[in-house]
Amino acid sequence: MKFDPASKIQDLLQFGEFGGVNPSITDSATYTFLQAKDMLDTFQGETEDYFLYSRHWNPSNKYLADAMAAMEGTESAWLTASGMAAITNTILQLCNSGDHIVTSITTYGGTFAFFHNYLKKFNIEVSFVDITDLKAVEKAINPNTKVIYTETVTNPMLQISDIPELKKLAKKYGAKLVVDNTFTPMIVAPKLHGADIVVYSLTKYVNGKNDLVAGAVCADQVFINSLIDLNAGSSMLLGPVLDPLRSSQILKNMHTLHIRMKQHSKNALYLSEKFKEAGIPVVYPGFKEHRGYEVFTKMLNSEYGYGGMLAIDMKTSDMANALMEVMEEKGVGYLAVSLGYFKTLFSCSGKSTSSEVPEEIQKDIGISDGLVRFSMGLDNDIERTWEMIHSSLTELKIL
Ligand SMILES: *Cc1c(COP(=O)(O)O)cnc(C)c1O
Repeated sequence: MKFDPASKIQDLLQFGEFGGVNPSITDSATYTFLQAKDMLDTFQGETEDYFLYSRHWNPSNKYLADAMAAMEGTESAWLTASGMAAITNTILQLCNSGDHIVTSITTYGGTFAFFHNYLKKFNIEVSFVDITDLKAVEKAINPNTKVIYTETVTNPMLQISDIPELKKLAKKYGAKLVVDNTFTPMIVAPKLHGADIVVYSLTKYVNGKNDLVAGAVCADQVFINSLIDLNAGSSMLLGPVLDPLRSSQILKNMHTLHIRMKQHSKNALYLSEKFKEAGIPVVYPGFKEHRGYEVFTKMLNSEYGYGGMLAIDMKTSDMANALMEVMEEKGVGYLAVSLGYFKTLFSCSGKSTSSEVPEEIQKDIGISDGLVRFSMGLDNDIERTWEMIHSSLTELKIL
């Protein structure tokens, strides 16, 4: 049976307490009980019907969590105030001092910094590997490896993780497979390919408006319950809960996500082809010559395409900067970090979003000084956008 994440979201019947077509927004930090025993039972985790305190659960977050779980095909989900909180809480919940993690070297810069710099203070060891090299992944696994961590599509080189194969390794060695699916909501559902836990920055495509920061952890009920356990849960105790006002905003935006993802992918494919025709080196995982094309094709929900991210190589950072400034002037989009916005965003990855990654490692994975990453917007007339980019390239005498 075809997995249809958009219909799963549409099938949820969520409405307000007075019949509002959108659920009411939680405006309470604490919740009253009519019987003292119910409060006691809730504290012991023995009831499902009550809310206790908004850092733990609140109705607005429950609605959005249900929509995220429906989209991912997981039993449950929990919401955090940022994508980094979703990632760090998941790792801190899974790993104890003395444990080991194998991760893709090309992860989001903040994730890389957390693994590379921050986990040292907890004596959690991390090995960084080329995640598309399954032999290297297996070689890096130790008896104390608790987690294999990757992103479905890695940033900024758009490498593709072979989730079913990584799951086989995780299973063989008793580790959990954690996958960041921020770049590819609806395009790929990592849980269906074997991921144990799916983490998200909702700041990007899922919300899609660049007006807030949020994250989610999608997993089975046992893991979500452990995260928010009153006595030992990383999320309950570190406290990065998402504000209910924000979750109500995100929930509404999830209902247009399927339409947006298709348009992002369509625009990215069109522009990638134009760059290629013009002889500009371009990385797009929807091209047959991309190393991850087959693996990606095997996992993806084909009606959503190959995603809205692409990268071109301008060789030098001077050239990249000049191009970005001209493109901004001409109205192609904004020179800004982040992604998944309705306007096109571009940035020079080596010096911005991947600046936490040491330079020699950047070289190793092919991040050149002139790599410009595009998050394609929802442009209605993408031919017109290409004309603007083309005239920027000719103005700089690149074409
Ligand atoms: C942005 C991003 C994050 C971090 O999310 P925040 O919401 O900014 O905390 C994590 N992973 C990926 C792939 C991202 O793009």
